[in-house]
Amino acid sequence: MKIGFIGLGNMGAPMASNLAKAGHEVMGFDLTAPCPDGVTAAASATECASGCDVVITMLPNGAILRSVAAEIIPVMENGAAFLDCSTVDVESARAVAQDAESAGLLALDAPVSGGVGGASAGTLTFMAGGTEAGFAKVTPLFEVMGQKAVHCGPSGNGQAAKICNNMILGVTMIATCEAFALADKLGLDRQKMFDVVSTSSGYSWTMNAYCPAPGVGPTSPADNDYQPGFAADLMLKDLRLSQTAAQAVDADTPMGKSATALYETFVEREDGAGRDFSAMLPRFEKRGRG
Ligand code: NAD
Repeated sequence: MKIGFIGLGNMGAPMASNLAKAGHEVMGFDLTAPCPDGVTAAASATECASGCDVVITMLPNGAILRSVAAEIIPVMENGAAFLDCSTVDVESARAVAQDAESAGLLALDAPVSGGVGGASAGTLTFMAGGTEAGFAKVTPLFEVMGQKAVHCGPSGNGQAAKICNNMILGVTMIATCEAFALADKLGLDRQKMFDVVSTSSGYSWTMNAYCPAPGVGPTSPADNDYQPGFAADLMLKDLRLSQTAAQAVDADTPMGKSATALYETFVEREDGAGRDFSAMLPRFEKRGRG
């Protein structure tokens, strides 16, 4: 396929590169980041999107997505697919899809899980919102960039799934970290704590696959001085999206709200910026109840 790829940052560059390696003709555009090997550089977003079967965007937020969409939708071929893989608010995803569909395009929001490692290895999970026809058209690309794609329903539902998943992830990471810090103070060895919880009812992905305690469980960012991994800043972004979405539909999310407030403090008023989101553990270690 002829593919335009806009947003060649930490995630977009390896995704575009994998598409090129699979034999697709890929043109890329980014305001600052260079094009990876195998991807031809376009001079503008409109040049990148013109004449493509599929245009993929991997951008920082909903406002930027809306502005790029306003530029490229008018130049895209009738019947082409606009595939946004960024994590953005549900409202922006639905607005962009509506504009794209009104212009005769197929539109999908398909945020990803799996991080930079998954993007490089081609093992991302895509959660997609949009029509059956749109999903079918881009499925061969999901197969190159990822290992799993779930069609979650109409436009915006991919973002809804991503936001709900990451709200659970943020809350669970905090619960895991505060439990380790409590266990320390109760004199419980961290390895024993892991051995029990990872095989008991407190088990979770954050405990079993991404343990926030260094030297315990599988290798994780905790073993690399909490270098991300998944940065606390990005967790804060996703938690804020969960609270914007919850507000819009009047959903009560007390744990999501607390997790948002904690990551906000950690990133904006403490030393969490640029650290992995599991660095909540050293944060709790140092604290008492006051
Ligand atoms: P990034 O900041 O590394 O990349 C974003 C890129 O978009 C940058 O290179 C930037 O120059 C470019 N850009 C910004 N405005 C642009 C414009 N108008 N035109 C063209 N390019 C523009 O971010 P990332 O880590 O690659 O994340 C991208 C998206 O994926 C985000 O929505 C993020 O929430 C989501 N995501 C990231 C991860 C992760 O682990 N990094 C995991 C899952 C989802």
